[in-house]
Amino acid sequence: MILKKFKKTTGILIKETKFKEKSKYLTFYTDSKGLVTLAAFPAKTSFLPVFALPSKYNISYYTTPRDNNYLREIDCIDNYRGIHSSFNKLSMSWHILSPLRKLISSGGEDRFIFNLTDRALSAISESRKKKTDLLILNSFYLMLIIHLGVGFSVNLCVKCRNKNNLYSLSPKTGGILCKKCSAGQSDIMIVNVKILEEIKNKKAEDFFNISASFKVLTTLIKSMEIYLFSNFSTKPPEIDL
Ligand SMILES: [Zn+2]
Repeated sequence: MILKKFKKTTGILIKETKFKEKSKYLTFYTDSKGLVTLAAFPAKTSFLPVFALPSKYNISYYTTPRDNNYLREIDCIDNYRGIHSSFNKLSMSWHILSPLRKLISSGGEDRFIFNLTDRALSAISESRKKKTDLLILNSFYLMLIIHLGVGFSVNLCVKCRNKNNLYSLSPKTGGILCKKCSAGQSDIMIVNVKILEEIKNKKAEDFFNISASFKVLTTLIKSMEIYLFSNFSTKPPEIDL
């Protein structure tokens, strides 16, 4: 008799796809194994909440000799309850999960990404203001961009190193451009660089006091998404904010 060796980890459910009649493939971003996709049979998937809601689970699974992963046990430890309260919050959570769904490949243990995602989902779940949600999402993207090695300076122009009249974000040049360098650059996205700098540098206690309009914050998020996805030669999915 061959004993199956079970692996245990904690993961955030980021994607479900159906296979066969009632079974599913579940993709988790885990704290110790990176991105893992598990086949789950109907009896196991009945423990899951409604489709497309992010939740955090303790999971155990096994890997066959052919490298297929099968779910054994699943136990919800956080369902980020506040996110379920409105469609708007749900779409915020999709903005958090989409880089993990689209840009990251299987395996590759990266606890920073797990913790960042978990913190962002928890914070949005607990927040009561849309502006707070938008600040959280901005901070999430800024940190993810830096962590994935495509970070940019928020206080000088990437082309001429000038510190004044910072004006736009440009994926092709890899950072912030001043007004002069923005001219003639085809892929620029006009952003409020001062606010971006505040989001990057504010200490926790006054982070949520940053004074910026919804429009400024939304534009920043969308621009950073485009910037991040461009670095992987693709476009972000279109999700409302
Ligand atoms: Zn410049």
